[in-house]
Amino acid sequence: MIALDVDGVVANSISLLRSVIKYSYGIDIYNHIETYRIPHLFPNWDIGPFFEDCMINFGHAVEPYPDAKEACQLLLKENSFPLIFLTARRESLKEITKNWLSQKLGLPKDYFSVMMKSSSNKKFYIEKSGIEFFVEDRLRTANEIAELPSVKISYLINRQWNIGRDSHPKVVRKNNLLECVKNYLKTNKS
Ligand SMILES: [Mg+2]
Repeated sequence: MIALDVDGVVANSISLLRSVIKYSYGIDIYNHIETYRIPHLFPNWDIGPFFEDCMINFGHAVEPYPDAKEACQLLLKENSFPLIFLTARRESLKEITKNWLSQKLGLPKDYFSVMMKSSSNKKFYIEKSGIEFFVEDRLRTANEIAELPSVKISYLINRQWNIGRDSHPKVVRKNNLLECVKNYLKTNKS
């Protein structure tokens, strides 16, 4: 069974954050993104509430990554179970997230579920649910998930904020979700 993260995997939310921060603060965060934080620009800033506001007000403007729809449709066709999205977004964003996934990725709402778990709690959910493959863009989370004995592959999509740093041997890097899905389908069949 496979599950997917949302932001940085199917949703290009960072582009929206970049635009809003540039408009509000006059700062371009593009070259300062470290693990979705920008500590040297905003040391005491909790990005959670800001992200929540952005999604409530402008979430519809987030674009999916170019391969995301094809990858999800392929999974839907080949899998015998609904898609599972596991995101660190807050519970208040559940409906917005479900609507976005349905509209942007062409997924009927009965064919996927959305679980809201903080980054540090994703691993507990994955272990409990018997998920063996997970796709993530945050290095630390991918490493933590790779440590679970029940997990076969912890996929990490190469993004600007995770490149060039050490990862667990069970972390498999790919350039996009479609590459992860194709690898998963091949691995799972053999
Ligand atoms: Mg993410």
